[in-house]
Amino acid sequence: MIKRLNKLYKNNDASIEELEYILDHLDEESTQHLLKLSLQTKEEHYQDTVFMRGLIEISNYCKQNCTYCGIRRDNTEADRYRLDKEGILACCQLGYDLGYRTFVLQGGEDNYYSDDVMTDIVKTINTQFPECAITLSLGERSYESYKALYEAGADRYLLRHETASPDLYAKLHPGMSFENRRKCHQYLKEIGFQVGAGCMVGLPEQTNHDLALDLKYLKELEPQMVGIGPFIAHKKTPLGNNPGGTVDQTLVMLALTRLLLPSVLLPSTTALGTLDNQGREKALKAGGNVVMPNLSPIEHREKYELYEDKICTGDEAAHCRKCIEGRINSAGFTVDMSRGDHVHWKRGK
Ligand code: SAH
Repeated sequence: MIKRLNKLYKNNDASIEELEYILDHLDEESTQHLLKLSLQTKEEHYQDTVFMRGLIEISNYCKQNCTYCGIRRDNTEADRYRLDKEGILACCQLGYDLGYRTFVLQGGEDNYYSDDVMTDIVKTINTQFPECAITLSLGERSYESYKALYEAGADRYLLRHETASPDLYAKLHPGMSFENRRKCHQYLKEIGFQVGAGCMVGLPEQTNHDLALDLKYLKELEPQMVGIGPFIAHKKTPLGNNPGGTVDQTLVMLALTRLLLPSVLLPSTTALGTLDNQGREKALKAGGNVVMPNLSPIEHREKYELYEDKICTGDEAAHCRKCIEGRINSAGFTVDMSRGDHVHWKRGK
């Protein structure tokens, strides 16, 4: 196993069979070796730095019905909210004053944010905070819509592929199309966005073969950003009684992703911090180099409940900013508050 991992570290690629073999045969010693190689790779590209992004959860209205997600359309118990332009700008101002230079606007697929509304919001953020990067995470939209958002000034788009297994995808996403989600990645790339993909780990019925498919999809797509987190059940969803993913499984997937895409921007996710108080620190030590503390208004935080027991829902943005910085430092890393674009990306290239 050590030899196989060294080979992966050197080649930054492997077949689906090889990745599946590795996932099947990792033991305590080889896992430690994998985490070491992954951290080393991250350090070769980003030294000891960790980028901070300010996350603004703009809406929990959603027209989709993903069976794992707490803000799915059919969850009638979700207390719905959305932020208008002024509300979003207020979060950006708060974040700016705390030193953030990237704003991530994430939400359910909410028709309120038409192309006109959304491009106006993006343009205004761009005018008021010209040196800041704008990341969007608003689900599937048309080519024309993505293009208009890019031209309005959005720089990055996060759209996890969720799972690269067509069967599993179909079971989890009633009414949605596996092909369309992938097509969206192609659109986003073609337009010039820094693209984010990624998946959940520990989904019901997910096998190591499925996870190997996820890794290979990431390698082939070559996104600039990859979000990977454990699936955590939400009781008001059809998957409410499932066990969910583990921290260890997620760390392995993060580390393998780092080896496949050495210069990727790889967040240490809130979902990991939810499973384990030290989860986010562990992810940084496994090759993660981004954190996304919350800037959403406190009165709405609890309502953006994708999964249960989400952490930090009661904490002021300033508190999150300091708390995360402390965690980053205690894990042995330093905070980088710059825009933090991917090393190989420039607008218009
Ligand atoms: N509507 C946007 C944003 C989705 S929320 C989009 O489609 O991209 C962001 C991510 O949260 C999702 O991509 C999904 O991977 C994750 N997520 C949703 N429900 C979850 C759960 N129960 N456990 C863990 N992660 C979850």
